[in-house]
Amino acid sequence: MLRGLNMDRQLLISSLIDYAGRNHSSTEIVATDSSGLVHRTNWAEIRSRSMRLSSALLQQGIRPGDRVATIAWNDHRHLELYYSITGIGSVLHTINPRLREQQIAWILNHAEDQIVFIDPDFLPLAEAVATEALSVRQWVVLAEELPATSLENAVAYEDLIAGSNPLQEWPLLDEWSAATLCYTSGTTGNPKGVMQSHRSIVLQTWATCTGDGHDVNSSQSILLAVPMFHVNGWAIPFAAAMAGSKLVLPGPDLSPEALVQHINTENVTFSAGVPTIWLSVVQHLQDTDTDVPSLKRLAVGGSAAPRSLMDTLEDDYGVFVSHVWGMTEMTQGSAGRFTHRVQGLGREEQRRRQAMAGRELYGVELRLIDGDGQEVARDGATPGELLARGPWVAANYFNLEDDSTHLPAEDGPWLRTGDVATMDNEGYISIVDRAKDVIKSGGEWISSIELENAAVGAPGVVEAAAVGLPHDQWGERPLLLVVLESGRTLDRDEVLDAIRPHVASWWLPNDVVAVPEIPHTGTGKIDKKLLRDQFADFEWSQ
Ligand code: AMP
Repeated sequence: MLRGLNMDRQLLISSLIDYAGRNHSSTEIVATDSSGLVHRTNWAEIRSRSMRLSSALLQQGIRPGDRVATIAWNDHRHLELYYSITGIGSVLHTINPRLREQQIAWILNHAEDQIVFIDPDFLPLAEAVATEALSVRQWVVLAEELPATSLENAVAYEDLIAGSNPLQEWPLLDEWSAATLCYTSGTTGNPKGVMQSHRSIVLQTWATCTGDGHDVNSSQSILLAVPMFHVNGWAIPFAAAMAGSKLVLPGPDLSPEALVQHINTENVTFSAGVPTIWLSVVQHLQDTDTDVPSLKRLAVGGSAAPRSLMDTLEDDYGVFVSHVWGMTEMTQGSAGRFTHRVQGLGREEQRRRQAMAGRELYGVELRLIDGDGQEVARDGATPGELLARGPWVAANYFNLEDDSTHLPAEDGPWLRTGDVATMDNEGYISIVDRAKDVIKSGGEWISSIELENAAVGAPGVVEAAAVGLPHDQWGERPLLLVVLESGRTLDRDEVLDAIRPHVASWWLPNDVVAVPEIPHTGTGKIDKKLLRDQFADFEWSQ
C-alpha cells in the first residue's frame, strides 16, 4: 500500500468544543434549568467550565474508559458534561429518567458507573436506587447548592466547578476510545448498551451538519426539543459546536407554550423532536392564533410523522419538515431533503416523498432483505427487513455476549434494525412498521403506522394507535384507538371515512375505540405491547 501523506490527527470530541470556543466564543447558549432559571452563556464559557469540570473528574480519580453517568434535562450543565466527560477519555453515559427504577439500577450496575450527575428533579430517583448502585462512589447534583438529601457522597455541581482549575489542554486520545454509552429501552429483555467512539461521534456529527443531513450551520438558532439523555440528543449538541450555532436548551418544560415562547424569543430557525411534541405545538398555535415566523425547518423522527402534520406546518406556518429515521444504534440514519429530481416534481409528489422516512444518507448504508435473507428490490413497494451498516453503526453491544441483532456477511456484518420498510431507487425509505407491530391479516401485512398517520388527519383526532388483535377468520385484524380533542365524542364512521382514501379497503380497522390516552414507552414511542395486552380480551363488533 502506498500510504497517503496526511497528518495523523485523531477525530476527537474535544476538537468540537475547541473549535466553537475559538471561533464562536460569544455565540449564545440559552438554557432553562429545572428551577426555571434562564442561563445565558456562550461557547467560550461552556468550553472553559467543561475544562474545569474535567480536572475535577481527574481529581476524583476518573480515568480513561471509566463510565460517568448523567440523569439530566437539556440544559447548559448537561452540555458541559457532554464535553468534560468525553474530553478526558471517560465515557458519557446518558440515562433516560423515564425508565423504571429497577431498569435504572440495572443499567447503573451493568455500566459500572463511577460518578452520577443528577438534576435536582431526580433526587428521589437517585435516593431510591443508591443502595443498589454498587459501583457509584459519588453523586453530583446539578445545582448551585446541595439540596437536602439522604444520598451519601453527594456534592453540588457548582461547588465542584468552583473548586478546580481548568485543564490546560485536552489529552490526545485515540479516536477509537469509547466516548458515549446509551442503553436502548427494549420492551422485552434487558436494555442493551450502545457505545460510540470519538471517531463515530465526529463522523456522525459531520453527517448531521451536511445540507442533506440536518443542515446545521452557524447562521442557525437551534431549539433542542429532543432529550439529551436519548441518542445524544440526535448528535445536535455536538453538531451545534461543530457549526458554531446558537443553542436553546429548554430544560424539563417541553409544553407547547414553553417551546413556542423559546422559538419566538430566541429567533429559533431550526428544531428537532418527536412527532407528538410537534402535534401539540401545532394544536397550540391554532388554539392561540400564534405564529412562529423565525422557524424555517424541523427535523421530525423517532416515530412516524403524520403527513397532516407536515402539511399544516408548511402550509400554515412556512416550516419545512425533514422527516428522519434513526436508532440509538446509529443516531441519524436518513434525512428528508429533496433531491433535484424531486424538486422538479409537482407539490403532491414532493409531499409523498416527504411523508416517507427520509433518504439514505452517506455513511449509513441501508439494505432490505426478505424472510430468506435475499435482497429485496428497491422498487418503493416491496417490503423487507431493514439492515444498516456504516462507520457509526453499532457493531456490538456493551458487555453483551449473545448478540442476535447482527447478520454476518462476507464483507462485514449488518445491523438488523427490526424495522420493516420499503426503499426506492433514490434511497427514500418508508417504514412500514416495527417487525413485531406489523398487523398480519390473512397472510398479508397491514402497516399500523400508515393507519395511525391517516387517522390523525380525521377531525378531532389528536393521537391514534393501531394494533393487531387475534381474529378468527383473518388471524389478526386492526383495532384503532384514538384520543379525541376534549369535548368531542367518537364518530366511528367519520374516522374511517378519513382513513379510507389513504389505504387499501381491506386495511380499514374493524373497530375504533376512543381512549383517554395512549401509553408511551420511556423513549416516547407508542407502547404497542402494553396496548395489545390491555385489549387482549377485546371482542370485535363485526
Ligand atoms: P430508538 O433507538 O429508541 O431511537 O428507536 C429506534 C426506532 O424508532 C427505529 O428502529 C424505528 O422503529 C423507530 N423510528 C425512528 N424514526 C422513525 C420514523 N421516522 N418513522 C417510523 N419509525 C421510526
